[in-house]
Amino acid sequence: MPGRVVIVGTGIAGAAAAQTLRKDGFDGEVVMIGADRRPPYRRTMLTKDLLSGRVDADRIALRSADAWQTMPVEIRTGTRAAHLDPVGRSITTEDVGTGARATLGYDALLLATGGRARRLGPPGGPAWPGVLHVRDAEDALALRSRIGEAAGAPGPRGRLVIVGAGLIGCEVAAVAAAAGVAVTLLEAGPRPLAGTVPDAVSTMLADLHTGHGVTIETGVQVVGVVGDPDSDTPGRGVSVVHAADGRRWTAGIVVGAVGMSPATELAQSAGLAVADGILVDEYCATSAPGVHAAGDAARFPDPLTGGTRRIEHWNHGQAHGAAAARAILGAGRPYREVPWCWTHQYGVNLQIAGTPHAAQEWRVQGDLGARDFLSTGFADGREVAAVAAGRPTELRAARAHIGEHLTRAGAPAAIR
Ligand SMILES: Cc1cc2nc3c(=O)[nH]c(=O)nc-3n(C[C@H](O)[C@H](O)[C@H](O)COP(=O)(O)OP(=O)(O)OC[C@H]3O[C@@H](n4cnc5c(N)ncnc54)[C@H](O)[C@@H]3O)c2cc1C
Repeated sequence: MPGRVVIVGTGIAGAAAAQTLRKDGFDGEVVMIGADRRPPYRRTMLTKDLLSGRVDADRIALRSADAWQTMPVEIRTGTRAAHLDPVGRSITTEDVGTGARATLGYDALLLATGGRARRLGPPGGPAWPGVLHVRDAEDALALRSRIGEAAGAPGPRGRLVIVGAGLIGCEVAAVAAAAGVAVTLLEAGPRPLAGTVPDAVSTMLADLHTGHGVTIETGVQVVGVVGDPDSDTPGRGVSVVHAADGRRWTAGIVVGAVGMSPATELAQSAGLAVADGILVDEYCATSAPGVHAAGDAARFPDPLTGGTRRIEHWNHGQAHGAAAARAILGAGRPYREVPWCWTHQYGVNLQIAGTPHAAQEWRVQGDLGARDFLSTGFADGREVAAVAAGRPTELRAARAHIGEHLTRAGAPAAIR
Protein backbone atom coordinates (compact mmCIF):
# COMPACT_ATOMS: atom_id res chain seq x y z
CA MET A 1 0.00 0.00 0.00
CA PRO A 2 1.52 3.37 -0.99
CA GLY A 3 2.14 5.96 1.73
CA ARG A 4 1.62 9.06 -0.40
CA VAL A 5 -0.39 9.26 -3.62
CA VAL A 6 0.17 12.39 -5.67
CA ILE A 7 -2.38 13.28 -8.34
CA VAL A 8 -1.45 15.80 -11.04
CA GLY A 9 -4.62 17.46 -12.34
CA THR A 10 -7.68 18.68 -10.47
CA GLY A 11 -10.18 17.77 -13.21
CA ILE A 12 -12.79 15.03 -12.86
CA ALA A 13 -10.31 12.18 -13.41
CA GLY A 14 -8.03 13.42 -10.62
CA ALA A 15 -10.95 14.24 -8.33
CA ALA A 16 -12.63 10.86 -8.88
CA ALA A 17 -9.33 9.12 -8.15
CA ALA A 18 -8.90 11.03 -4.87
CA GLN A 19 -12.46 10.26 -3.80
CA THR A 20 -12.10 6.58 -4.69
CA LEU A 21 -8.85 6.26 -2.74
CA ARG A 22 -10.67 7.47 0.37
CA LYS A 23 -13.89 5.56 -0.31
CA ASP A 24 -11.90 2.35 -0.67
CA GLY A 25 -10.18 2.89 2.66
CA PHE A 26 -6.78 4.32 1.72
CA ASP A 27 -5.46 6.07 4.83
CA GLY A 28 -2.18 7.46 3.51
CA GLU A 29 -1.61 10.97 2.15
CA VAL A 30 -3.49 12.15 -0.96
CA VAL A 31 -2.14 15.33 -2.57
CA MET A 32 -3.70 16.87 -5.69
CA ILE A 33 -1.68 19.34 -7.73
CA GLY A 34 -3.59 21.63 -10.09
CA ALA A 35 -2.42 24.39 -12.40
CA ASP A 36 -5.98 25.78 -12.27
CA ARG A 37 -6.52 28.39 -9.56
CA ARG A 38 -9.87 26.84 -8.66
CA PRO A 39 -10.45 23.58 -6.81
CA PRO A 40 -12.13 20.81 -8.88
CA TYR A 41 -15.21 22.01 -10.74
CA ARG A 42 -17.73 20.77 -13.29
CA ARG A 43 -16.13 21.54 -16.61
CA THR A 44 -19.29 20.42 -18.41
CA MET A 45 -21.14 23.44 -16.99
CA LEU A 46 -18.80 25.93 -18.66
CA THR A 47 -20.56 26.06 -22.04
CA LYS A 48 -24.00 25.61 -20.53
CA ASP A 49 -25.00 27.12 -17.17
CA LEU A 50 -21.90 29.26 -16.58
CA LEU A 51 -21.75 30.73 -20.08
CA SER A 52 -25.46 31.50 -20.09
CA GLY A 53 -25.21 33.17 -16.67
CA ARG A 54 -27.71 30.72 -15.19
CA VAL A 55 -25.11 30.07 -12.47
CA ASP A 56 -22.02 31.90 -11.31
CA ALA A 57 -18.54 30.51 -10.91
CA ASP A 58 -19.05 29.88 -7.20
CA ARG A 59 -21.75 27.30 -8.10
CA ILE A 60 -19.70 24.99 -10.30
CA ALA A 61 -17.48 23.41 -7.62
CA LEU A 62 -17.47 19.63 -7.61
CA ARG A 63 -17.37 19.51 -3.79
CA SER A 64 -17.09 22.08 -1.03
CA ALA A 65 -13.71 22.97 0.47
CA ASP A 66 -14.93 21.38 3.73
CA ALA A 67 -15.74 18.10 1.99
CA TRP A 68 -12.19 17.83 0.60
CA GLN A 69 -10.74 18.67 3.99
CA THR A 70 -12.86 16.10 5.76
CA MET A 71 -11.86 13.27 3.43
CA PRO A 72 -9.01 14.45 3.78
CA VAL A 73 -7.50 15.38 0.41
CA GLU A 74 -4.90 18.12 0.18
CA ILE A 75 -5.42 20.27 -2.90
CA ARG A 76 -2.67 22.59 -4.11
CA THR A 77 -4.30 24.88 -6.64
CA GLY A 78 -2.35 27.31 -8.85
CA THR A 79 0.49 24.80 -8.83
CA ARG A 80 1.97 23.21 -11.92
CA ALA A 81 3.88 19.95 -12.00
CA ALA A 82 6.90 21.13 -13.99
CA HIS A 83 9.11 18.07 -13.91
CA LEU A 84 8.73 14.36 -13.20
CA ASP A 85 11.49 12.06 -12.04
CA PRO A 86 10.00 8.56 -12.33
CA VAL A 87 13.19 6.88 -11.05
CA GLY A 88 13.53 9.02 -7.92
CA ARG A 89 9.70 9.06 -7.61
CA SER A 90 9.33 12.80 -7.24
CA ILE A 91 7.83 15.76 -9.05
CA THR A 92 8.98 19.36 -9.11
CA THR A 93 6.09 21.74 -8.58
CA GLU A 94 5.97 25.38 -9.59
CA ASP A 95 3.68 28.06 -8.21
CA VAL A 96 1.84 29.47 -11.24
CA GLY A 97 1.91 32.99 -9.80
CA THR A 98 5.36 33.31 -8.21
CA GLY A 99 7.28 30.61 -10.06
CA ALA A 100 8.49 29.23 -6.70
CA ARG A 101 9.61 25.62 -7.04
CA ALA A 102 9.44 22.70 -4.62
CA THR A 103 10.03 18.95 -4.75
CA LEU A 104 7.35 16.48 -3.76
CA GLY A 105 8.05 12.76 -3.43
CA TYR A 106 5.43 10.11 -4.10
CA ASP A 107 4.90 6.41 -3.69
CA ALA A 108 2.28 6.37 -6.43
CA LEU A 109 1.57 9.05 -9.02
CA LEU A 110 -1.51 9.62 -11.15
CA LEU A 111 -1.26 11.85 -14.21
CA ALA A 112 -4.74 13.26 -14.83
CA THR A 113 -3.57 16.24 -16.82
CA GLY A 114 -6.49 16.44 -19.29
CA GLY A 115 -5.78 18.69 -22.21
CA ARG A 116 -6.03 22.13 -23.69
CA ALA A 117 -8.17 23.61 -26.44
CA ARG A 118 -6.57 23.25 -29.84
CA ARG A 119 -5.76 26.79 -31.00
CA LEU A 120 -6.84 28.02 -34.40
CA GLY A 121 -3.83 28.85 -36.52
CA PRO A 122 -1.78 27.68 -39.50
CA PRO A 123 -0.36 24.14 -39.18
CA GLY A 124 2.75 24.35 -36.97
CA GLY A 125 2.48 28.15 -36.74
CA PRO A 126 1.35 30.55 -34.03
CA ALA A 127 -2.33 30.84 -33.13
CA TRP A 128 -4.31 33.54 -34.89
CA PRO A 129 -4.78 36.47 -32.53
CA GLY A 130 -8.09 37.46 -30.99
CA VAL A 131 -9.71 34.02 -31.21
CA LEU A 132 -11.35 32.81 -27.98
CA HIS A 133 -11.44 29.18 -26.82
CA VAL A 134 -13.26 27.50 -23.94
CA ARG A 135 -11.44 25.00 -21.78
CA ASP A 136 -11.49 26.44 -18.25
CA ALA A 137 -13.74 28.61 -16.12
CA GLU A 138 -11.78 31.78 -16.90
CA ASP A 139 -12.24 31.16 -20.65
CA ALA A 140 -15.98 30.74 -20.17
CA LEU A 141 -16.26 33.89 -18.04
CA ALA A 142 -14.31 35.92 -20.61
CA LEU A 143 -16.57 34.68 -23.41
CA ARG A 144 -19.65 35.33 -21.29
CA SER A 145 -18.69 38.95 -20.89
CA ARG A 146 -18.00 39.33 -24.64
CA ILE A 147 -21.39 37.74 -25.45
CA GLY A 148 -23.00 40.24 -23.05
CA GLU A 149 -21.33 43.12 -24.91
CA ALA A 150 -22.27 41.73 -28.33
CA ALA A 151 -25.93 40.99 -27.54
CA GLY A 152 -28.02 43.45 -29.50
CA ALA A 153 -24.99 45.40 -30.81
CA PRO A 154 -25.45 46.57 -34.41
CA GLY A 155 -23.53 45.18 -37.40
CA PRO A 156 -20.53 42.89 -37.09
CA ARG A 157 -20.03 43.78 -33.41
CA GLY A 158 -23.22 41.91 -32.63
CA ARG A 159 -21.99 38.83 -34.48
CA LEU A 160 -20.22 35.73 -33.22
CA VAL A 161 -18.47 33.34 -35.58
CA ILE A 162 -17.73 29.89 -34.17
CA VAL A 163 -15.24 27.68 -35.99
CA GLY A 164 -16.17 24.03 -35.40
CA ALA A 165 -19.67 22.59 -35.00
CA GLY A 166 -18.77 19.85 -32.53
CA LEU A 167 -20.28 19.54 -29.06
CA ILE A 168 -18.60 22.66 -27.66
CA GLY A 169 -19.17 24.82 -30.75
CA CYS A 170 -22.86 23.87 -30.84
CA GLU A 171 -23.31 24.57 -27.11
CA VAL A 172 -21.69 28.00 -27.43
CA ALA A 173 -23.93 28.73 -30.44
CA ALA A 174 -27.06 27.80 -28.49
CA VAL A 175 -26.16 30.01 -25.51
CA ALA A 176 -25.13 32.99 -27.64
CA ALA A 177 -28.19 32.76 -29.91
CA ALA A 178 -30.45 32.69 -26.84
CA ALA A 179 -28.65 35.81 -25.57
CA GLY A 180 -29.51 37.70 -28.76
CA VAL A 181 -26.19 37.47 -30.58
CA ALA A 182 -26.16 36.82 -34.35
CA VAL A 183 -24.33 33.48 -34.59
CA THR A 184 -22.60 31.88 -37.56
CA LEU A 185 -21.37 28.33 -37.10
CA LEU A 186 -18.61 27.26 -39.51
CA GLU A 187 -17.99 23.57 -39.99
CA ALA A 188 -15.47 21.74 -42.17
CA GLY A 189 -17.69 18.65 -42.40
CA PRO A 190 -21.08 18.23 -44.02
CA ARG A 191 -23.18 18.81 -40.87
CA PRO A 192 -22.87 19.70 -37.18
CA LEU A 193 -21.64 16.72 -35.11
CA ALA A 194 -21.19 14.64 -38.27
CA GLY A 195 -19.66 11.29 -37.29
CA THR A 196 -20.64 11.77 -33.65
CA VAL A 197 -24.36 11.25 -34.25
CA PRO A 198 -26.28 9.65 -37.14
CA ASP A 199 -27.03 11.86 -40.16
CA ALA A 200 -30.72 12.18 -39.28
CA VAL A 201 -29.89 13.42 -35.76
CA SER A 202 -27.25 15.77 -37.13
CA THR A 203 -29.85 17.22 -39.53
CA MET A 204 -32.34 17.55 -36.66
CA LEU A 205 -29.71 19.46 -34.65
CA ALA A 206 -28.92 21.71 -37.60
CA ASP A 207 -32.65 22.50 -37.92
CA LEU A 208 -32.79 23.24 -34.19
CA HIS A 209 -29.97 25.77 -34.55
CA THR A 210 -31.29 27.43 -37.69
CA GLY A 211 -34.72 27.58 -36.05
CA HIS A 212 -33.08 29.73 -33.36
CA GLY A 213 -31.54 32.05 -35.93
CA VAL A 214 -28.07 30.46 -36.17
CA THR A 215 -26.50 30.44 -39.64
CA ILE A 216 -24.65 27.20 -40.39
CA GLU A 217 -22.02 27.08 -43.13
CA THR A 218 -20.55 23.66 -43.92
CA GLY A 219 -17.55 22.54 -45.97
CA VAL A 220 -15.62 25.53 -44.62
CA GLN A 221 -11.82 25.31 -44.31
CA VAL A 222 -10.74 28.33 -42.28
CA VAL A 223 -7.35 29.58 -43.45
CA GLY A 224 -7.02 32.82 -41.50
CA VAL A 225 -8.47 35.14 -38.89
CA VAL A 226 -7.30 38.75 -39.09
CA GLY A 227 -8.26 41.99 -37.40
CA ASP A 228 -10.36 44.23 -39.63
CA PRO A 229 -8.12 47.18 -40.66
CA ASP A 230 -11.26 49.36 -40.91
CA SER A 231 -12.16 48.64 -37.29
CA ASP A 232 -12.25 51.72 -35.05
CA THR A 233 -10.75 49.85 -32.09
CA PRO A 234 -7.97 47.57 -33.37
CA GLY A 235 -7.26 44.60 -31.14
CA ARG A 236 -10.69 44.54 -29.55
CA GLY A 237 -12.61 45.33 -32.70
CA VAL A 238 -13.90 43.24 -35.51
CA SER A 239 -12.19 40.18 -37.01
CA VAL A 240 -12.48 38.71 -40.46
CA VAL A 241 -12.52 34.92 -40.82
CA HIS A 242 -11.24 33.73 -44.20
CA ALA A 243 -12.09 30.38 -45.79
CA ALA A 244 -10.00 28.52 -48.38
CA ASP A 245 -12.70 28.97 -51.02
CA GLY A 246 -12.68 32.76 -50.66
CA ARG A 247 -15.69 33.10 -48.39
CA ARG A 248 -15.27 35.49 -45.45
CA TRP A 249 -17.20 36.44 -42.35
CA THR A 250 -16.83 39.53 -40.17
CA ALA A 251 -17.59 39.33 -36.46
CA GLY A 252 -17.02 41.01 -33.12
CA ILE A 253 -16.22 37.64 -31.50
CA VAL A 254 -14.52 34.61 -33.01
CA VAL A 255 -14.48 31.33 -31.07
CA GLY A 256 -12.32 28.36 -32.01
CA ALA A 257 -13.96 25.03 -31.12
CA VAL A 258 -11.83 22.57 -33.03
CA GLY A 259 -11.07 20.00 -30.36
CA MET A 260 -8.42 19.56 -27.71
CA SER A 261 -4.87 18.25 -27.43
CA PRO A 262 -3.94 15.99 -24.53
CA ALA A 263 -1.50 17.47 -22.00
CA THR A 264 1.34 14.97 -22.32
CA GLU A 265 4.45 17.14 -21.98
CA LEU A 266 5.15 16.21 -18.35
CA ALA A 267 4.98 12.50 -19.20
CA GLN A 268 6.90 12.89 -22.45
CA SER A 269 9.78 14.83 -20.93
CA ALA A 270 10.08 12.13 -18.26
CA GLY A 271 10.47 9.47 -20.95
CA LEU A 272 7.07 7.82 -20.59
CA ALA A 273 5.48 6.28 -23.69
CA VAL A 274 3.25 8.88 -25.34
CA ALA A 275 1.35 8.84 -28.65
CA ASP A 276 -1.49 11.38 -28.79
CA GLY A 277 -2.04 10.64 -25.12
CA ILE A 278 -0.12 9.02 -22.30
CA LEU A 279 -0.11 5.32 -23.14
CA VAL A 280 -1.58 3.12 -20.42
CA ASP A 281 -2.60 -0.52 -20.11
CA GLU A 282 -6.08 -1.68 -19.12
CA TYR A 283 -5.16 -1.00 -15.47
CA CYS A 284 -4.23 2.64 -16.24
CA ALA A 285 -0.53 1.87 -15.70
CA THR A 286 1.92 3.91 -17.81
CA SER A 287 5.29 2.66 -19.05
CA ALA A 288 6.92 3.95 -15.81
CA PRO A 289 6.64 1.92 -12.60
CA GLY A 290 4.46 3.63 -10.00
CA VAL A 291 2.91 6.05 -12.51
CA HIS A 292 -0.70 5.76 -13.69
CA ALA A 293 -2.66 8.02 -16.02
CA ALA A 294 -6.39 8.56 -16.59
CA GLY A 295 -9.02 10.72 -18.26
CA ASP A 296 -8.70 12.90 -21.37
CA ALA A 297 -4.89 12.67 -21.25
CA ALA A 298 -4.62 8.86 -21.34
CA ARG A 299 -4.74 6.51 -24.33
CA PHE A 300 -5.91 3.05 -23.29
CA PRO A 301 -6.58 -0.34 -24.93
CA ASP A 302 -10.15 -0.29 -26.23
CA PRO A 303 -11.86 -3.70 -26.21
CA LEU A 304 -14.67 -2.28 -28.39
CA THR A 305 -12.32 -1.60 -31.28
CA GLY A 306 -9.31 -3.78 -30.50
CA GLY A 307 -7.10 -0.69 -30.82
CA THR A 308 -6.26 2.09 -28.43
CA ARG A 309 -8.38 5.09 -27.73
CA ARG A 310 -8.61 8.39 -25.88
CA ILE A 311 -12.03 9.51 -24.73
CA GLU A 312 -12.90 13.13 -23.96
CA HIS A 313 -16.08 12.67 -21.90
CA TRP A 314 -16.88 13.59 -18.33
CA ASN A 315 -18.16 10.13 -17.36
CA HIS A 316 -15.12 8.45 -18.79
CA GLY A 317 -12.87 10.77 -16.76
CA GLN A 318 -14.81 9.85 -13.65
CA ALA A 319 -14.74 6.08 -14.29
CA HIS A 320 -11.14 6.01 -15.52
CA GLY A 321 -9.89 8.07 -12.56
CA ALA A 322 -11.69 5.70 -10.18
CA ALA A 323 -10.24 2.69 -12.02
CA ALA A 324 -6.73 4.14 -11.70
CA ALA A 325 -7.22 4.65 -7.95
CA ARG A 326 -8.27 1.03 -7.50
CA ALA A 327 -5.24 -0.11 -9.50
CA ILE A 328 -2.98 2.01 -7.28
CA LEU A 329 -4.49 0.24 -4.28
CA GLY A 330 -3.75 -3.15 -5.86
CA ALA A 331 -7.42 -3.88 -6.54
CA GLY A 332 -7.48 -2.98 -10.22
CA ARG A 333 -9.80 -4.54 -12.78
CA PRO A 334 -9.43 -4.26 -16.55
CA TYR A 335 -11.08 -1.02 -17.66
CA ARG A 336 -14.28 -1.95 -19.52
CA GLU A 337 -16.66 0.98 -19.75
CA VAL A 338 -18.96 1.85 -22.60
CA PRO A 339 -18.30 5.54 -23.22
CA TRP A 340 -21.19 7.94 -23.09
CA CYS A 341 -21.67 11.67 -22.97
CA TRP A 342 -24.39 14.24 -23.23
CA THR A 343 -24.95 17.69 -24.61
CA HIS A 344 -27.60 20.27 -23.81
CA GLN A 345 -28.78 22.68 -26.49
CA TYR A 346 -31.99 24.78 -26.47
CA GLY A 347 -33.46 22.62 -23.71
CA VAL A 348 -32.81 19.38 -25.63
CA ASN A 349 -30.64 16.86 -23.82
CA LEU A 350 -28.91 14.53 -26.24
CA GLN A 351 -27.08 11.44 -24.97
CA ILE A 352 -24.51 9.56 -27.00
CA ALA A 353 -23.11 6.12 -26.10
CA GLY A 354 -20.67 3.64 -27.58
CA THR A 355 -18.69 4.14 -30.79
CA PRO A 356 -20.94 6.07 -33.21
CA HIS A 357 -18.33 6.44 -35.94
CA ALA A 358 -18.15 2.64 -36.19
CA ALA A 359 -21.85 2.20 -36.96
CA GLN A 360 -22.68 1.01 -40.47
CA GLU A 361 -26.43 1.29 -40.04
CA TRP A 362 -28.79 3.18 -37.71
CA ARG A 363 -32.33 2.26 -36.66
CA VAL A 364 -34.56 4.91 -35.10
CA GLN A 365 -37.39 4.39 -32.64
CA GLY A 366 -39.56 7.35 -31.72
CA ASP A 367 -39.89 10.80 -33.20
CA LEU A 368 -36.84 12.84 -34.15
CA GLY A 369 -38.92 15.95 -34.80
CA ALA A 370 -40.38 15.77 -31.29
CA ARG A 371 -36.86 15.17 -29.90
CA ASP A 372 -38.06 11.96 -28.31
CA PHE A 373 -36.16 9.07 -29.85
CA LEU A 374 -33.56 6.34 -29.54
CA SER A 375 -31.30 5.74 -32.50
CA THR A 376 -29.24 2.55 -32.38
CA GLY A 377 -26.11 2.02 -34.45
CA PHE A 378 -25.06 -1.44 -35.67
CA ALA A 379 -21.87 -2.88 -37.11
CA ASP A 380 -21.99 -6.44 -38.45
CA GLY A 381 -25.39 -6.85 -36.82
CA ARG A 382 -24.14 -5.89 -33.34
CA GLU A 383 -25.14 -2.82 -31.37
CA VAL A 384 -22.12 -0.51 -31.18
CA ALA A 385 -23.66 2.90 -30.47
CA ALA A 386 -26.82 4.66 -29.35
CA VAL A 387 -28.01 8.26 -29.48
CA ALA A 388 -31.13 9.40 -27.66
CA ALA A 389 -33.15 12.40 -26.62
CA GLY A 390 -35.79 12.22 -23.90
CA ARG A 391 -35.20 8.48 -23.36
CA PRO A 392 -32.65 8.02 -20.59
CA THR A 393 -33.91 4.56 -19.63
CA GLU A 394 -33.66 3.21 -23.17
CA LEU A 395 -30.22 4.78 -23.56
CA ARG A 396 -29.08 3.03 -20.38
CA ALA A 397 -30.38 -0.30 -21.69
CA ALA A 398 -28.66 0.26 -25.04
CA ARG A 399 -25.43 1.01 -23.22
CA ALA A 400 -25.74 -2.28 -21.38
CA HIS A 401 -26.27 -4.15 -24.68
CA ILE A 402 -23.21 -2.48 -26.18
CA GLY A 403 -21.30 -3.43 -23.03
CA GLU A 404 -22.10 -7.10 -23.48
CA HIS A 405 -19.63 -7.13 -26.39
CA LEU A 406 -16.93 -5.90 -24.04
CA THR A 407 -17.04 -9.11 -22.11
CA ARG A 408 -16.97 -11.31 -25.22
CA ALA A 409 -13.80 -12.24 -26.99
CA GLY A 410 -13.26 -10.18 -30.12
CA ALA A 411 -14.91 -7.08 -31.46
CA PRO A 412 -16.95 -6.59 -34.62
CA ALA A 413 -14.62 -6.86 -37.59
CA ALA A 414 -15.78 -3.52 -38.96
CA ILE A 415 -14.50 -1.61 -35.96
CA ARG A 416 -11.32 -3.51 -35.28
C1 LIG B 1 -16.43 23.51 -22.24
C2 LIG B 1 -16.52 22.02 -22.10
C3 LIG B 1 -17.77 21.41 -22.01
C4 LIG B 1 -17.86 20.03 -21.91
N1 LIG B 1 -19.10 19.46 -21.82
C5 LIG B 1 -19.19 18.11 -21.74
C6 LIG B 1 -20.46 17.46 -21.63
O1 LIG B 1 -21.52 18.10 -21.67
N2 LIG B 1 -20.49 16.12 -21.47
C7 LIG B 1 -19.35 15.37 -21.43
O2 LIG B 1 -19.43 14.15 -21.30
N3 LIG B 1 -18.13 15.94 -21.51
C8 LIG B 1 -18.02 17.29 -21.67
N4 LIG B 1 -16.80 17.87 -21.75
C9 LIG B 1 -15.59 17.04 -21.66
C10 LIG B 1 -15.23 16.78 -20.22
O3 LIG B 1 -15.41 17.93 -19.45
C11 LIG B 1 -13.80 16.27 -20.14
O4 LIG B 1 -13.74 15.05 -20.84
C12 LIG B 1 -13.33 16.06 -18.71
O5 LIG B 1 -13.46 17.23 -17.96
C13 LIG B 1 -11.87 15.59 -18.69
O6 LIG B 1 -11.47 15.44 -17.38
P1 LIG B 1 -9.92 15.22 -17.01
O7 LIG B 1 -9.87 15.22 -15.53
O8 LIG B 1 -9.38 14.08 -17.76
O9 LIG B 1 -9.16 16.50 -17.59
P2 LIG B 1 -9.36 18.05 -17.31
O10 LIG B 1 -10.75 18.35 -16.91
O11 LIG B 1 -8.79 18.75 -18.49
O12 LIG B 1 -8.44 18.34 -16.04
C14 LIG B 1 -7.07 18.30 -16.12
C15 LIG B 1 -6.49 19.30 -15.15
O13 LIG B 1 -5.10 19.09 -15.07
C16 LIG B 1 -4.46 20.33 -14.96
N5 LIG B 1 -3.07 20.16 -15.39
C17 LIG B 1 -2.61 19.81 -16.62
N6 LIG B 1 -1.26 19.72 -16.61
C18 LIG B 1 -0.87 20.02 -15.36
C19 LIG B 1 0.40 20.12 -14.72
N7 LIG B 1 1.54 19.85 -15.37
N8 LIG B 1 0.43 20.47 -13.42
C20 LIG B 1 -0.71 20.72 -12.74
N9 LIG B 1 -1.95 20.64 -13.29
C21 LIG B 1 -2.01 20.30 -14.58
C22 LIG B 1 -5.27 21.25 -15.85
O14 LIG B 1 -5.09 22.59 -15.45
C23 LIG B 1 -6.69 20.75 -15.57
O15 LIG B 1 -7.31 21.45 -14.56
C24 LIG B 1 -16.68 19.25 -21.88
C25 LIG B 1 -15.42 19.87 -21.96
C26 LIG B 1 -15.34 21.24 -22.07
C27 LIG B 1 -13.97 21.90 -22.19
